Amino acid sequence: MRDKFGREIDTLRISVTDRCNFSCLYCSKEFNKIEKEKILSYEEIINIVKVFTKLGIKKIKLTGGEPLIRENITYLIKEISNLPEIEDISLTTNGFFLFENVEKIKEAGIKRINISLDTLDEKKFARITGFKHLDRIKRVVEESCKTFSSVKLNVVIIKNINLDEIEDFLNFARENKMILKFIELMPVYKNLSFWKENFVPYKVVKNIIESFVSIFKIEERRIKVYKGENLIVEFVSPVSEPFCGKCDRLRIDCKGDLFLCLYGKPVLNLKKFNEEILNLIQFYIFNREYSFNPFAQISVKNYRFPVMNCLGG
Ligand code: SAM
Repeated sequence: MRDKFGREIDTLRISVTDRCNFSCLYCSKEFNKIEKEKILSYEEIINIVKVFTKLGIKKIKLTGGEPLIRENITYLIKEISNLPEIEDISLTTNGFFLFENVEKIKEAGIKRINISLDTLDEKKFARITGFKHLDRIKRVVEESCKTFSSVKLNVVIIKNINLDEIEDFLNFARENKMILKFIELMPVYKNLSFWKENFVPYKVVKNIIESFVSIFKIEERRIKVYKGENLIVEFVSPVSEPFCGKCDRLRIDCKGDLFLCLYGKPVLNLKKFNEEILNLIQFYIFNREYSFNPFAQISVKNYRFPVMNCLGG
């Protein structure tokens, strides 16, 4: 379905847990805070997905916390990937629990996977994540590249930690034939000075890449996609160039709270949810604000609205 700005929404990002085995420097989430009874059960998640398919959701991304920390996640993946309306189910993970489970996750229905890895250096890895398992994650990345049809490496650029590793990442991506996705560091509200000291706009990263290899833009939707020799590089720039005008997704956190924007407040809780509130969900989606992203300065004048009334057809 489309919202009043004409943005087509076809992707639902579902956080299946607030638990995580890493404690990344820049992560603003508070882990292990939510009581288990408040977390969506698999049946509740499946029901939510079924209802959202009626609103045009075709793509599901499972995330967290760390999604693979949740017991029997393959059951959820299988059930969602068996829904005929779902064209794509993918996963964002830190990779730790993928170790020796890559095949199992693929068999459950995952074709595309994003693995988050911000450094190829053991000491920096421990500094960023609080843990010492870089070798394990590298092996998982290599195995995943042989198994899944698409692997993206999510790299958050942190000026004083990994800006000097871009060439290493280019080589690592080429060796493993995976897509490199550079993400701008978003403000960490519990430590704003860390963000101010470490934020790097995507253009700086792009310039550094271009000092090693020629790349040219092949696509610009939410994400900017560039191609070079044996290389695909993506940039996600929520801070320096917000992409609210192209936002195609909704988010549900592990308690069932529906978010219309990464930066917004929840509008509805869907834990005890039935089809009767379908109209209410449609109403919220259609009327979603242009943006809650504090960095978005783009004028709404560029966008036609209303394009169609989702309630009336
Ligand atoms: N645990 C999983 C993982 O590591 O991919 C899924 C959840 S994690 C929150 C999803 C992605 O958000 C990761 O790639 C992580 O690096 C990114 N992320 C978290 N906090 C961020 C921040 N402050 N700025 C930019 N990206 C961030």
